[in-house]
Amino acid sequence: MRHKKVIDKMTLEEKASLCVGFDYWHSREIEKYNIPQITMSDGPHGLRVQKNKSDNLGINESEISTCFPAASALSNSWNSKLLYLLGQTLGEEARKENVNIVLGPAINIKRSPLCGRNFEYFSEDPYLTGILGSEYVKGLQSKNVGACVKHFAVNNQENRRRTIDVIIDERALREIYLKAFEMIIKDAKPWSIMSAYNKVNGEYCSENQHLLNDILRKEWKYEGIVISDWGAENNRVKGLKATHELEMPGGRGDGVNEIITAVKNNKIPEKQLDEAVDRIIDIATRKKEIKEEKYDFQSHHEIAEKIAEETIVLLKNNENILPLKNKKIALIGDMAKTPRYQGAGSSTINPYKIENAYDNFIKNGIAVEYAKGYERIETERDEDLRKEAVNIASRNDVVIIFAGLTENYESEGVDRKNLNIPKNQNILIDEICNINKNVIVVLSNGSPVLMPWKDKVKAIITGYIGGEGGGKAIVNCLIGKVNPSGKLAETYPTKLEDTPCFKNYPGSELTVEYKESIYVGYRYYDKKGCEVLFPFGFGLSYTEFQYSDLNIIFEKEKINISFKIKNIGKYKGKEIAQIYVSKENSGVFRPLKELKGFEKVELNPEEEKTINTSINQNSLKYFDIQKNKWILENGTYNILIGKSSTDIILSEKVYINSKEEISKNKFADKYYIGDIQNISDEEFEQLIGKKLPNRKLILEQINEENTLEQLKDTKIGKIIYDNQMSKMKKLLKEQNVNKATKVMMDLQKPLKKFYEKKNSKITKKMVDELIEIAKNNKEPLENEFVKEYLK
Ligand code: BGC
Repeated sequence: MRHKKVIDKMTLEEKASLCVGFDYWHSREIEKYNIPQITMSDGPHGLRVQKNKSDNLGINESEISTCFPAASALSNSWNSKLLYLLGQTLGEEARKENVNIVLGPAINIKRSPLCGRNFEYFSEDPYLTGILGSEYVKGLQSKNVGACVKHFAVNNQENRRRTIDVIIDERALREIYLKAFEMIIKDAKPWSIMSAYNKVNGEYCSENQHLLNDILRKEWKYEGIVISDWGAENNRVKGLKATHELEMPGGRGDGVNEIITAVKNNKIPEKQLDEAVDRIIDIATRKKEIKEEKYDFQSHHEIAEKIAEETIVLLKNNENILPLKNKKIALIGDMAKTPRYQGAGSSTINPYKIENAYDNFIKNGIAVEYAKGYERIETERDEDLRKEAVNIASRNDVVIIFAGLTENYESEGVDRKNLNIPKNQNILIDEICNINKNVIVVLSNGSPVLMPWKDKVKAIITGYIGGEGGGKAIVNCLIGKVNPSGKLAETYPTKLEDTPCFKNYPGSELTVEYKESIYVGYRYYDKKGCEVLFPFGFGLSYTEFQYSDLNIIFEKEKINISFKIKNIGKYKGKEIAQIYVSKENSGVFRPLKELKGFEKVELNPEEEKTINTSINQNSLKYFDIQKNKWILENGTYNILIGKSSTDIILSEKVYINSKEEISKNKFADKYYIGDIQNISDEEFEQLIGKKLPNRKLILEQINEENTLEQLKDTKIGKIIYDNQMSKMKKLLKEQNVNKATKVMMDLQKPLKKFYEKKNSKITKKMVDELIEIAKNNKEPLENEFVKEYLK
């Protein structure tokens, strides 16, 4: 132990108190031992320091800070240096605010495009996520501000995130959902990890022995601290037993006393508490006293804008309509003036200033005729707005329509229901295409959307959710000051039904079964031969690149790869070359190919550069369920160099001589051909090696770990649910997205969290009564919980 001397002096009470937060954003300070408090703040793409009223959904005001592009946009840059820069810049802001740990990056894998929080996550691919996440952490920690990599683990949906039990096989867990965490932990050594709300294979993440003890500590040798997501702690002692150090926020229930009692009753060895305390002290004392620190808002704004420029993806550009030529331009769409620059929920930033597209056209001396086009929160179509838009579209040469997902479509706490953008926008685009042949659509979206008008428009470009500088960045791309260089970090399916987990998302009342196993994103579409709207890794440029001269030398454990890229077009530009690997005749089921490397390079017209890079053969291992370890399969591997996951230009074979034996067990044939939407219960049970747990809640078994939503089929539950749903609809109409989300989140939080909250008017007795009434489906007359909650 690093802090044994101090720990030996501490009382049991003092030690236990360190393991539970002091208040909403701080851990406890113990002055007499010089243990400072740790100050935390959201994260991930800007700071959300709250000096007055606190919350975890961005409802109350926070200090002004720089709003960077969200991770869904950042990942499109495929530029590690930019992620480092972002981390560093964020670190400077954190120091000014005396924040020791920023709650980010958020690195969960995009299992379904419907997850309401995908805008905050990087990719469907663990390798890309791991590399970019690592750089973010390194940049941040270079400023002596800790990262908190979240949410550990398998938190891939918002619906029922606080109770859902993820049923997953060990291979998918290791190869897909934990891989990026493993990469970041080993490479960047983050100060902390945030445990997720959900359960994984029956145990809450905050007390999950397998995730925390077996994998994080024993296998990965993680030395930092694990912090619970806000309110995710279920049982403090079980958590501690799984090596979970810090419960956040402070003020919930009685965690400190629970620990003290457990130690006194020998339910947990004091040594285990000491180890947790040792790790907490280690992190708390890493912070140096931060003196008056300043930064220049404007220069950080410029960094945010520079980063945004590289996140923009050009998806279509017929007849090279872009960059814009000297033409009369109609600019249509509310989002051109009021950009959608960030998502909703705990990552909500109070930005320094916001750039919009309209102003930036004007600043560049380009006259545009503007019409609002549609109402932000979808309502009946507005006839006046429509007429105005159609009018200006008919009298200009080119029409640029700003469209996409509005605030109410994507948020922490709720999932999307489909892949559509608001109907009023789709109708508008369609109508304008009938009037003008030169339509350019500029999208704002935190995750994939369908584009029913794709073939009718000339160009499509997406800035995702580009942060406070996004509006300027997109105009720079449209007018050619910047050549777009982003590529998609996720697949755009042609329809929701095609998504691999379509039949198992968001799961049943109690569980969500990851029957598709490792076939997430392109790993599935590729294998199944399923047509997509835009593939993983896709993005156009105003110039063109030519690849040649692939050369591979296999040396010891390293596969050295070199190839050339030449800019054969007219514009200076950046290209992202992707390296995939596929195994020939594998004895285990595998995707057709997997991303194992990438390089971004900038080239002037006619310039050619040689890329020299390498892959370690160990990164080609798969996780063998039967042997419970990573195995390097013997045989031939194809090294594929591509412009995207479906546009492979160069390839070479390497032979890997490995003595490691793959295990003999076979799973359902469907896994070998990628027919994973049709996996039966029995086939999945064979893969996970156990029986599937109950999917449906049994009324008699309702307890305080269940939620109000789960009571909705009872008489009392229905009254509460209906009441809250109409409240939510009203808030959405008022464009109060964060508050509306809170209503949904309260319906989905464990009942015990109502009375565990500091100063809560709801008592345990009230919750117990509610459960009794619900269980017996009695008439809900005179119930105290209902009176208090709905008042
Ligand atoms: C989110 C976390 C966030 C925390 C604190 C939670 O609801 O899931 O990502 O860091 O709140 O705001």
